[in-house]
Amino acid sequence: MKLTVLDHPLVDHKLTVLRDKNTPSSLFRRLVSELVTLEAYEATRDLAVEDVPVETPVAPTVGKRIAGPRPLIVPILRAGLGMLDGMTSLLPTAEVGFLGMKRDESTLDIITYANRLPDDLSGRQCFLLDPMLATGGTLVAAIHYLHERGAKTITSLNIIAAPEGIKRLRETVDSSIDFHVLTCALDDHLNEQAYIVPGLGDAGDRLYGVVD
Ligand code: URA
Repeated sequence: MKLTVLDHPLVDHKLTVLRDKNTPSSLFRRLVSELVTLEAYEATRDLAVEDVPVETPVAPTVGKRIAGPRPLIVPILRAGLGMLDGMTSLLPTAEVGFLGMKRDESTLDIITYANRLPDDLSGRQCFLLDPMLATGGTLVAAIHYLHERGAKTITSLNIIAAPEGIKRLRETVDSSIDFHVLTCALDDHLNEQAYIVPGLGDAGDRLYGVVD
């Protein structure tokens, strides 16, 4: 597993405003979008490209374009949706699928309650979006889900990660899987309710308001 913690003054500045409990949802959504776009630049560094001829006003030359099959962006519902705009603004030709996963509170297993993804992901470069990498349970399940369907590479974009989640990924994800985790910050720890400390609270609630 490759781990990248972004190190950039713009990321630090935007993340600090995001963490502030007084930041309203409208600004929170905009900042998440901006952070994801900055993160996406780094996350797409290894995208496969192919040569393509192009004629400039001066001379023919050979440029590059993103190679097929189209990259696939997969927000994990619900909070991952808040990251979608920021990602597609940098990668507008990507396909978008959706994955809804939650924990069964009686068994603690992760269950997939929604899936809008192609069955065959052979050769696809997949980008998972989930703002908070807390225990890592959902991400481990999502990575295996994509890998079982043939994904070639899996890159996870997160806003804040906890060391407990990173440890779990390292210990649990099959070592044959080529995956990369990016985060804007690696925080201190998880509290008893599995919230990241200092974190930013419940990302879904801060993006979309509390659902009763
Ligand atoms: N999910 C959140 O939204 N926040 C956390 O701190 C942990 C998980």
